[in-house]
Amino acid sequence: MVKIKKTELSGLINYLSEKYQVFAPVKDGKKTSFQKIKSADEIIDSIPNTNLSPKSIFFPQAEVLFKYDENGIKVPKKDEKPFAVWGMRNCDAKSVLMLNKVFGNAHQIPDNKMYNDPYWKQKYDSSLIFGLACNAPLSTCFCNWFDGGPFDEKGSDVFVIETDDHFIMNGISEKGKKFLKEYKKDDKSDIDKEKIESLKQKAESYLSEKVDISNIYDKLNKIWDEPIWEEISSKCINCGACTFVCSTCHCFDVSDEGKSGKGQRIRLWDSCMFPIFTNEASGHNPRGVSVQRVKQRVMHKYNYFMDNYNEHLCTGCGRCVLVCPVNLDIREILKKIIKV
Ligand code: SF4
Ligand code: SF4
Repeated sequence: MVKIKKTELSGLINYLSEKYQVFAPVKDGKKTSFQKIKSADEIIDSIPNTNLSPKSIFFPQAEVLFKYDENGIKVPKKDEKPFAVWGMRNCDAKSVLMLNKVFGNAHQIPDNKMYNDPYWKQKYDSSLIFGLACNAPLSTCFCNWFDGGPFDEKGSDVFVIETDDHFIMNGISEKGKKFLKEYKKDDKSDIDKEKIESLKQKAESYLSEKVDISNIYDKLNKIWDEPIWEEISSKCINCGACTFVCSTCHCFDVSDEGKSGKGQRIRLWDSCMFPIFTNEASGHNPRGVSVQRVKQRVMHKYNYFMDNYNEHLCTGCGRCVLVCPVNLDIREILKKIIKV
C-alpha cells in the first residue's frame, strides 16, 4: 500500500502525465463528467459519482472510425499515450469491466466466436484505472443489489481510499502493482486499518437495504406477455436520458457523413428508447410503441446480458434514477417484477 498526502495529488497527476493522458472528474458546465486534465487543480472531489458516466473515455459519444476519399480509407492515428483515469467510483470501474465483455475479448453465444472492437481495445487494454472508494453514496445508489459495495475493488488497477488528509493506494491488478512500485516505496507501516474499516462501514450505512433480485432472470422469462409492462412503462416519454447517462448502456449507430466521394464514418451513441432505433428500411418497426422499448431496456439489462455474460448489465449507480424527468425509478420496476 502507498499513502500520500492529499497535497501530493498534484505531483501524482504530473507524474502520470509523463506517460499517460490523464482523465478525472471535472466540472462540465452545470454537470460533472470525466475529461482529460492537465493538472490536479481541475479535479473536483467530494462527489459521489459524476452526472455523466466515464464510459465516454473508452467509448466516445461520437467516434470517427475512418475517413475516405478518392485515395482510399484512412483510420485515425492511435492515441500517442495510453489513458490513466483517476477517481472512478467502484460502480463505474465495474461498468467498464462489463463493457469490456462486449467490446473487448468477448465470446459470443451462440457461435462462440471471439469479437474484438479495435477502437475500444486500443484505449482500454493499455489504460490504468484508479478506482476511488465511495465514502458517501447517494440515496439513489444501489450497488449492494448487485453484490457491489462502496469499497469494491473490481475493475480497478489501483484502488484508492480517501481519508481526511490522505489517499491510500493499493495495487489490485499486475499493472496497478507495477505502477505503485515504480511511483513510491511500498509502506504498510503507517496505514490505519481501523480507520479504513470505519470509513467502509459508514459508507455502507448510507445504502438502503439490499433487495434480493436473484429471481429477476426467471421472472422476466415468464412475464413477456403480462400486462405489468403497460403499468411499468406508462410514465415513460422515451426521452433516452436514462440510456445516455447509464454507465453500461452501449447501443450505437454508424453514420456516413460526406459527399462527392469524400467523408467519414462515425460511431454515435444511440438509444433503444428512441422510436426509430429499430425502424427497418421496409418501414416496419418491431418496437414501434413505448411499452416494447421499455421492456427491451429491462430485458437487456437483467435477462439477455445474463444469457450472454452471466451477470446483470447494471451496477446500481443510480444515474438513471436521478435523471429521469418523470421519476421512473428502475429500482421500483425491479421490485414490481420480483413480486409478480
Ligand atoms: S440502469 Fe441505471 S442504475 Fe443501472 S447502471 Fe444504468 S444508470 Fe446505473
Ligand atoms: S429517462 Fe425516464 S422518461 Fe426518459 S426514456 Fe428513460 S425511463 Fe423513459
